[in-house]
Amino acid sequence: MPELSAEQVDQVQAKLHQVGLEFRPLEDEFLDHLCCAIEQNMGAGMTFAEAEKSAFAAFGEDEMKKLESETISIINKNSNSMKNMLVSLAAGLLLVLVTFISLKAEPPYLSPVPGDFKISSGFGWRVHPIFKEKKMHKGIDIPAPLGTDIVATSAGVVEEAGFSEKGYGYYVLIRHDDHYQSLYGQMTSDLQVEAGQKVKAGELIGYVGSSGRSTAPHLHYEVILDGEHVDPQEYMGM
Ligand SMILES: [Zn+2]
Repeated sequence: MPELSAEQVDQVQAKLHQVGLEFRPLEDEFLDHLCCAIEQNMGAGMTFAEAEKSAFAAFGEDEMKKLESETISIINKNSNSMKNMLVSLAAGLLLVLVTFISLKAEPPYLSPVPGDFKISSGFGWRVHPIFKEKKMHKGIDIPAPLGTDIVATSAGVVEEAGFSEKGYGYYVLIRHDDHYQSLYGQMTSDLQVEAGQKVKAGELIGYVGSSGRSTAPHLHYEVILDGEHVDPQEYMGM
């Protein structure tokens, strides 16, 4: 694992300072975690500039400010004698959570339908149930009761959310990073996200439906790597 030079740490600190956090102990904690994330990114082959950009993007300025206000409110609810201990505890716990989320931001790794599920149609060539012709199935089908929760399989930004004439029915397309996207189709019209919105891993995005080219309630789920469809089963429960 590469280690940051003192100059690079100073640079990260200056950039972090621009976020405008007022709570010093938390800023120190963030610096520690950001530097750690940058070193990991560099270990994965990024330049320092790329690694820094990616680490800041993963943490997010809004997220840092939100954590700051949450931490302060936790502290304010408690007595002064407990203050110092709580400061480090709260900051530590919240940051472990953020680090966990940001490290898991790529690629998709969760099951899009929480709990037990089976797959009725796998990835690859199959005879289409309606058109009876041999067709490439670009994803997997997970049958589930109408209204079952569908969650984002990794953190990302919603690229598209709406109705598709191409057979997906109501669908959501999420971009996770420069390489990975995931698509959820055949949903009910009650989509829980809109284009441009940031989502966390495991966040509710909509419900299992039977819209579009569908014979029974199920989720059609795709994982796309650099524009090519890959088998989603290889990206579940990693
Ligand atoms: Zn399908």
